Amino acid sequence: MGRDLVVIGGGIVGAAAAWHATRRGADVLLIDARAPGRATDAGAGIVSPETDLRDRTPTHMLSAAARVFYPEMISALEAAGFSDTGYARCGKLVVARNDEQAGWIAPYLGALRDPERAAAPADAASLREISPAEARRLFPPLGEVTGAFVSDGGARVDGRRLVRALLAAATDNGLDIEVATVASLADVPDARAVVVAGGAWSPALLPELDIVPQRGQILHLAIDDASCERWPVVSPLAHNYLLAFDGRVVCGATREDAAGFAAEITAAGQAEVLNDALAVAPGLARARVLEWRVGLRPVARRGWPYLGAVSDRPGVFVASGHGASGLTYGPWSAAAVVDAALGVALHPDLRAFAP
Ligand SMILES: Cc1cc2nc3c(=O)[nH]c(=O)nc-3n(C[C@H](O)[C@H](O)[C@H](O)COP(=O)(O)OP(=O)(O)OC[C@H]3O[C@@H](n4cnc5c(N)ncnc54)[C@H](O)[C@@H]3O)c2cc1C
Repeated sequence: MGRDLVVIGGGIVGAAAAWHATRRGADVLLIDARAPGRATDAGAGIVSPETDLRDRTPTHMLSAAARVFYPEMISALEAAGFSDTGYARCGKLVVARNDEQAGWIAPYLGALRDPERAAAPADAASLREISPAEARRLFPPLGEVTGAFVSDGGARVDGRRLVRALLAAATDNGLDIEVATVASLADVPDARAVVVAGGAWSPALLPELDIVPQRGQILHLAIDDASCERWPVVSPLAHNYLLAFDGRVVCGATREDAAGFAAEITAAGQAEVLNDALAVAPGLARARVLEWRVGLRPVARRGWPYLGAVSDRPGVFVASGHGASGLTYGPWSAAAVVDAALGVALHPDLRAFAP
């Protein structure tokens, strides 16, 4: 018998799986094709499970778990000397832009304060309605605002930097990494278990998964404002989001279901993202365009990801299909699947996410 675990895929899910497994003391190989269009490299980075509402899917379990797991993961990385993750608890600002939307603010806040309806209930004091003037003070490029609330628990992360930190920490723990495409599960080096974390490409190895790519084009603008690192994530009620990192504002993003695996920036995509961003935040009009990114979200058409053992394939596990929320849910999902794959006692009950 060879390794304890082979992880296929080196996006956020695969990197977190490898990190977690090496922390468990496992002998791990990660194989990643580094395909153009890797979702993690384009992901905006909003991590705000405390503003998720329960729906009819089991996803609320992921919101609740992510809310606890994320800060623990970041602290563990920092303690090991890997603090360059781009993670910051910057808060999330939800804004209305007309009178109709302003009427949605109080019911949304009410639902988030209701433990029966919030997916990852935050403490009430961390959610507060604020005035339009206060909203513009928090995010100066904003245009017209008719209502707003802030969630102090909202955070953002840089997917590329987080993956680098996870892989560096895992390599310190003995992880081996190979850049290659696994053409079939029969080609995987001998191991006790395999975790498929191949994002939108996962069905090439496991055709039973109903996961499809959803293209997202996203814009990075340069911002000459030293305070922008502390600006909150902006989530307009009926528009795309905005968030800031050191020296840049990220304007999201298209959601294209018919583009297949074409990881391309298109004229229509640019127009949609730019027009929307400037409608919400006209103060960005003079910002310099730094770069466009494009990623393929792994969308599970049933509405929630596939996590756990794959039936009729002994030793094969999957962690994939996180759609638009994989930077948020991916790390905990990966850890949970790894614990199942390694047979760690008390691993979480993943039956609701069974492939
Ligand atoms: C524009 C955009 C904005 C987003 N914003 C957010 C956000 O704000 N918050 C949030 O939580 N989420 C966000 N997401 C979603 C999030 O980025 C994804 O859900 C997440 O990154 C998926 O991670 P993954 O590891 O499953 O897949 P990926 O990051 O796509 O990685 C999969 C990796 O597996 C490799 N691979 C696949 N098959 C094989 C094989 N056979 N052999 C070897 N390697 C293989 C690929 O090459 C790739 O490197 C966004 C996504 C996009 C595109």
